[in-house]
Amino acid sequence: MSAPSELVVHDDAIRANTAYFAALTGDRLMAVLKADAFGHGAVAASVLASGATAVGVATIDEALALRSAGVRARILTWLNPPDADFAAAVLADVDVAVSSPAVLHAVGLAALAVRQRARVHLHVDVGMARDGSPAEAWPSLCALARVSEALGAVGVVGVMGHMSCADRADHPQNARERLLFRNAVRTARRSGLTPSVTHLAATAATITGVGDGFDLHRIGAGLFGIDPSGTSTALRPALSLTTQVAAARQVEPGTGVGYGLDHVVDRRTNLALLPIGYGDGLPRAASERAEVLVRGRRRPLVGRFSMDMVVVDTGDDRLDAGETVTVFGPGAAGEPTVAEWAAWSDTIEHEIVTRIGTRVARVHRTTSVERAVDTDRTVDTERIREALRA
Ligand SMILES: *Cc1c(COP(=O)(O)O)cnc(C)c1O
Repeated sequence: MSAPSELVVHDDAIRANTAYFAALTGDRLMAVLKADAFGHGAVAASVLASGATAVGVATIDEALALRSAGVRARILTWLNPPDADFAAAVLADVDVAVSSPAVLHAVGLAALAVRQRARVHLHVDVGMARDGSPAEAWPSLCALARVSEALGAVGVVGVMGHMSCADRADHPQNARERLLFRNAVRTARRSGLTPSVTHLAATAATITGVGDGFDLHRIGAGLFGIDPSGTSTALRPALSLTTQVAAARQVEPGTGVGYGLDHVVDRRTNLALLPIGYGDGLPRAASERAEVLVRGRRRPLVGRFSMDMVVVDTGDDRLDAGETVTVFGPGAAGEPTVAEWAAWSDTIEHEIVTRIGTRVARVHRTTSVERAVDTDRTVDTERIREALRA
């Protein structure tokens, strides 16, 4: 039998979202496809056909996988330890972000070994104490990069930063981080570096506008219909998760369900067993809160989630084995959304979509859902911006 659970990836939604961000950024769009494209799988061709001009990923392995899949656009990888395979990255013409002297050194040595100059984006931490060079180490990193350039090892083509609070347009930190970034770019130029692209904004900063004014926008979540700022109405969710009933039974009042018998049914009812659990990415924290769509109606999942299965209370409906149940989707038919699943498990949508397990079959589909986005890019950039700011 084929896998009972299926994750449908709505490629048309991803294309529409990509075109939207291409318009919003004036065609300065790097599509961020890390973590298997936020769990959406093989979408590089779609986003590159819809207005993205470059691709960003966390690791070299992710970059090489895209090259193997035939992606010829610029790829940037930004999170690699000093012992990563930078030679492979350079040979595959993959740009690498550099946050520290140790990584700069490793990239330079790898480039000299393969006799090909490495394309480097220097990464400055503008405020979240995560990746990126600490601001106080930035001038010396720039000076070292200039030395490495003079040796013919690297070429600094970009400067990047990443904002911490951009989902809130009015957060005072945004101005600080923009200023720090501008100063970092100035320091790089004073060091003799000549980066041709500067990039600060990801999805939130692009939608709220607080990361505008630079050469490239690194957009991940937004391509998949996720808006961290909660302000956009233009984005379309791109996943539907379905499963099939494995078994069904009628139970009497007082029947306990699942480990610990946390849930006890208070009436005669029907239960259906769904062969999908936390091992497939349904967050266990959503136990006793989540719902699914069954025969056009919302029904509660009852009892603690198990690794491989959950139980749904279907009331008067006795389901048949093999019937399709929708776990989440865009919401048009009344099914729960990824946003609801995130709320039920006290997390963010990103975590729901990136954790769907390997037992779930991925299917890419272009559905003819009505277009929520005008993909004619020449028309709407200003209107879109105004609508977002309103
Ligand atoms: C993940 C990531 C992005 C994309 O962020 P979204 O909010 O998903 O658009 C951009 N830049 C860096 C450095 C990242 O780690």
